[in-house]
Amino acid sequence: MKDQWIDLHTHSTASDGSFTPTELIRYAVTKRLGALALTDHDCVDGLNEAAAEGERLGIEVIPAVELSADHPEGTMHILGFFIDRRHEGFCGRLRRLQEARKERNPKIVQKLQGLGLNITYDEVVAASGGGQVGRPHFAKVLVQKGYVSSMQEAFERYLKRGALGYVEKFRFSPQEVIAAIHDAGGVAVLAHPFTLYKEPSPMLEPLLGGLTENGLDGMEVIYSTYSEGQSRYYRELAEKFHLLPSGGSDFHGAHKPGIDLGVGMGRLQIPFELLEPLRKKARGPRVSYPAN
Ligand code: AMP
Ligand code: ZN
Ligand code: FE
Ligand code: FE
Repeated sequence: MKDQWIDLHTHSTASDGSFTPTELIRYAVTKRLGALALTDHDCVDGLNEAAAEGERLGIEVIPAVELSADHPEGTMHILGFFIDRRHEGFCGRLRRLQEARKERNPKIVQKLQGLGLNITYDEVVAASGGGQVGRPHFAKVLVQKGYVSSMQEAFERYLKRGALGYVEKFRFSPQEVIAAIHDAGGVAVLAHPFTLYKEPSPMLEPLLGGLTENGLDGMEVIYSTYSEGQSRYYRELAEKFHLLPSGGSDFHGAHKPGIDLGVGMGRLQIPFELLEPLRKKARGPRVSYPAN
């Protein structure tokens, strides 16, 4: 049935997806999705274009973002849904993150060159297609040049935390990320919690307790790669911590092979009913203070 399923975690060429915002929305329509959130990493540059195409084709596009937060282990990503992309304080924080990328990215090139790899920053920028440059674009160039045989291998050998070409970049604390999303009127949802710690971890519940105290609104309980056991586990954890359930594929087009929009690895189904509680919790933007 049309409009029954949605996808609340997707990327476009504005960050590290391979579909332009317009292509992404058109593809969502062919998948008969009822709504889609564009959640580009650290940037909202694709939201205007996606909203315009959504309006033209009659599909709801939720203005959103995926922000990295500082976390000693693993990876912490927090999604912000229903954000005001023009909020001044919020945009100031995004600019800080753009600067952090500009500092980090050339250092990755230097490290790779130091390992004897023939790669230039111009090639990586070309691979990004003009949007924000991220590690998947380095991976793409490494695959193209035959240094590795897959994006996954590029991360394993060179790009993941602790690998030979890894360079740290500035991140806001989880508290700052949640506050930034709230300031911009959005709801803050913890993405793919399995990337925080090696599973299972006794650290997860105390962390969720703290994030909830800091105002976290929801958690991603439906995700492309979850087993049935993980889905159940994260659904129960969300209930325990009174976090709103969210779900998405984390579609990146060709930059994450095997993950398709809406359906993930084939069997994902994200019900439309998840959307309304998230929408209700979105409070509208707070006063816009000048960015610092
Ligand atoms: P960046 O924000 O530039 O540090 O790049 C982060 C992006 O790289 C994430 O959105 C993922 O899409 C991708 N990524 C991170 N770790 C891996 C991994 N181990 N395998 C494949 N893709 C990854
Ligand atoms: Zn990504
Ligand atoms: Fe993520
Ligand atoms: Fe993502």
